[in-house]
Amino acid sequence: SAMLPLSVPPPECLQKRFVAPQRHMFGPGPSNVPLRILAAGAEPIIGHMHPEMFEIMSDIKSGIQYAFQTQNKVTLAVSGTGHAAMECALFNVLEPGEGFLAAVNGIWGERAADIAERIGARVNTIVTSAGGCFTNEDIDQALAKHKPVLFFLTHGESSTGVLHPLDGIGEICHKHNCLFLVDCVASMGGAPIYMDKQGIDILYSGSQKVLNAPPGTAPISFSERACQKVFNRKTKPVSFLLDMSWLANYWGCDGKLTRIYHHTGPVSNFYSLREGLAVLAEQGLENTWQRHREVAEYFHEGLENMGLKLFVKDKNIRLPTVTTIVAPAGYNWKEITSYIMKTHNLEISGGLGPSVGQVLRVGLMGCNSSKASVDMVLKALRDALKHCHKSKV
Ligand code: PMP
Repeated sequence: SAMLPLSVPPPECLQKRFVAPQRHMFGPGPSNVPLRILAAGAEPIIGHMHPEMFEIMSDIKSGIQYAFQTQNKVTLAVSGTGHAAMECALFNVLEPGEGFLAAVNGIWGERAADIAERIGARVNTIVTSAGGCFTNEDIDQALAKHKPVLFFLTHGESSTGVLHPLDGIGEICHKHNCLFLVDCVASMGGAPIYMDKQGIDILYSGSQKVLNAPPGTAPISFSERACQKVFNRKTKPVSFLLDMSWLANYWGCDGKLTRIYHHTGPVSNFYSLREGLAVLAEQGLENTWQRHREVAEYFHEGLENMGLKLFVKDKNIRLPTVTTIVAPAGYNWKEITSYIMKTHNLEISGGLGPSVGQVLRVGLMGCNSSKASVDMVLKALRDALKHCHKSKV
């Protein structure tokens, strides 16, 4: 058939080469990606079902088992960001009409409840103020009252800067015949988490925070107890792409000898995720946890010495990866973040969800968790407070 005249010409904007600026990525994510990990992502593309690819996927699985501290055989990386893993967990565990309980102390519990509603689950929430967390008694009582099949909790609440304690909650869930789902997108590698020892049934994370890989892959793992539910459903999960029966086969987690084509995995992103996990394994989890804690404490001390206030009052539940600073009175927070971006080439961000307008958020994750980065942020903040407009309230 003959070609027709084009009604849309080649866009002029695409004739210019795009060069990404170098920035200090000190917001809540994505974080900076070190050259070693960027370079891994620039390796030649091979087939997503070639033997070398299966080997890389097996390495990724081992790396996630280490990062999560789990022996679960159903451990893999979802092709997508943290939200994809969140949906993968909820879509595969919950069936329409089943009870779901979300702990809401920031935006992530709200989003989990939203997703569960979309699949027709019976959704309840327990809510506490932004910056706070729940006691095990709160959770025990809510589980007794609502009798859900799944309970959601965020380990590192990046919208409020809270690191939620996890000890004992797994046992409480299991006592109530409920599975325990935890979001560690913002905390994995930055604070201790022991999936098996803490009785977590489904745990997921992301690639672009402490792992310093590009966004686009999301580690997830299912306990034996979770698998019992996921692989014995009456209905198919609403998402084909996130169906764990398919994904477990694609990732060689289902004990079958042949793998069937499901979707084309993001090959380059798998290379970089593998490299990010390799760095974590090389440096060691305990060292990495400790470094994040020490750097965060150094940062928090510096902020308080400047007269700034931390949003999370209780020291013991401050998230080491993402710090929330009370938005300084009299200033427009947007002016502060833009000033710092413009003059220091450094990203920090405002609040999110319930903390919008109330805080500034600074993320120091993976390679950015260093005293040198802290000094840079403190200098930028000091400068911003001097130069940004201050109203006399
Ligand atoms: N959960 C938490 C705690 C997060 O911090 C984020 C990312 N900010 C997500 C989930 C969602 O991840 P993504 O943006 O990669 O979809």
